[in-house]
Amino acid sequence: PSEPIRNTTARWRALDVRHHLSPFADYKSLKQDEGGSRIITQAEGIYLTDSEGHRLLDGMAGLWCVNVGYGRAELAEAAYRQMLELPYYNTFFKTATPPAVELSEKLAEIAPEGLNRAFFGSSGSESNDSVVRLVRRYWNLRGQPEKSHIVSRTYAYHGSTMASASLGGMVGMQEGFGLPLPGFHHVMPPYWFDFAEAGETPADFGRRAAKAVEDKILEIGPDKVGAFIGEPIQGAGGVIIPPETYWPEIQRICSQYDVLLVADEVICGFGRTGRWFASEAFGIAPDLMTLAKGITSGYVPLSAVLVSDKVGEVLESGEGEFAHGYTYSGHPVACAVALANIALIERDGLVEKVRHETGPYLAECLQSLSDHPLVGQVRSFGLLGAIELVEDKASRKHFEPLGRVGTLCRDHCFQNGLVMRAVRDGMVLSPPLIIETAEIDALVETARRCLDLTA
Ligand code: PLP
Repeated sequence: PSEPIRNTTARWRALDVRHHLSPFADYKSLKQDEGGSRIITQAEGIYLTDSEGHRLLDGMAGLWCVNVGYGRAELAEAAYRQMLELPYYNTFFKTATPPAVELSEKLAEIAPEGLNRAFFGSSGSESNDSVVRLVRRYWNLRGQPEKSHIVSRTYAYHGSTMASASLGGMVGMQEGFGLPLPGFHHVMPPYWFDFAEAGETPADFGRRAAKAVEDKILEIGPDKVGAFIGEPIQGAGGVIIPPETYWPEIQRICSQYDVLLVADEVICGFGRTGRWFASEAFGIAPDLMTLAKGITSGYVPLSAVLVSDKVGEVLESGEGEFAHGYTYSGHPVACAVALANIALIERDGLVEKVRHETGPYLAECLQSLSDHPLVGQVRSFGLLGAIELVEDKASRKHFEPLGRVGTLCRDHCFQNGLVMRAVRDGMVLSPPLIIETAEIDALVETARRCLDLTA
């Protein structure tokens, strides 16, 4: 809105504090902080507008999801048409709807080789919960029910439900909640910046991080490990881009010990890395792949588990039903929006744009920040980026307490019209895929100004 709507803003903030328990919020400080939540009222392209009329460049595409940008009429029209035609019907008990089956086929077309079946849910968390069920079902049918353990990584984020938070490696989400549940194991992430030993090259470190997975499988016993799950690039963990040596080793280890390889592409999918799916970029051939976020560019909730022929054929060989599903599995409106969203990504050539134009351009612009006294490393892949803030560049020593400087920088960004997120002391970036090079210039210029303010 051009006119600030202050009264309304005050009212919304008061209601938010009084009645709304927002996710990942510190309720005590929200209540004490007179400012309260920022209220976002509108968005167009890559820009958000808040209730006080401030315009913000959304460097995070919402929560890593608004790939085609805001205000796309095609998606609204697809939802409207589908709501009039068939707003809801379930896909339980041998029922299907045209949008659900059309989308299943489209996903098989754009996904890596051999992922020809889709199981739908409404969120990334649900899709990863479904993975746990699918893995167990698969091994039950193969006569090895004891292969129920799953290996994952520290700093992984796979969702917020009890099972998906157990898959995840965020200690803050587990302590005090009885998590991880039994059977979920974690090893170090392929995070060279924080975990490499002095003098260790990224290539050597990548092999060592993969070996941690092998060691864990051997410790638990290969006859008990059913799957390994990983995000090709760990997003919420701080945009952790693995060395090139990592994924080929993981692939080899999973084959050697007959462990299913699950790629969580909830952030990486749908063009974010300059490929339809990051598995292509890293040479991963997953047995299961989870998708959400960019599948509808966040316009409506939808997720999917893509299932390989290897797993699918076992599922289809089993007696009895797979007793798992959600009321909204294959929701027709969500699937119709996903189809329209994929059509837009194709029509606008967004995957190619990220791969050949804006991805390399972002990498170059971020590099220009390397000389800043606070910056220990910049890294990016496609339109996923991170700027590590450190106290000492040479030793990669972080500030103490970890997170304080990142939060400060994030707040400066907000005040200067840029949404970036702080993960510990890493500033992370994931703008809509429609961002233009001139807008990347503006983004990086603002980031530099905010680094100056933070220093
Ligand atoms: N997997 C990854 C890699 C994610 O980044 C997220 C959310 O950020 C999830 C799963 C969970 O998705 P949702 O929040 O839709 O449940």
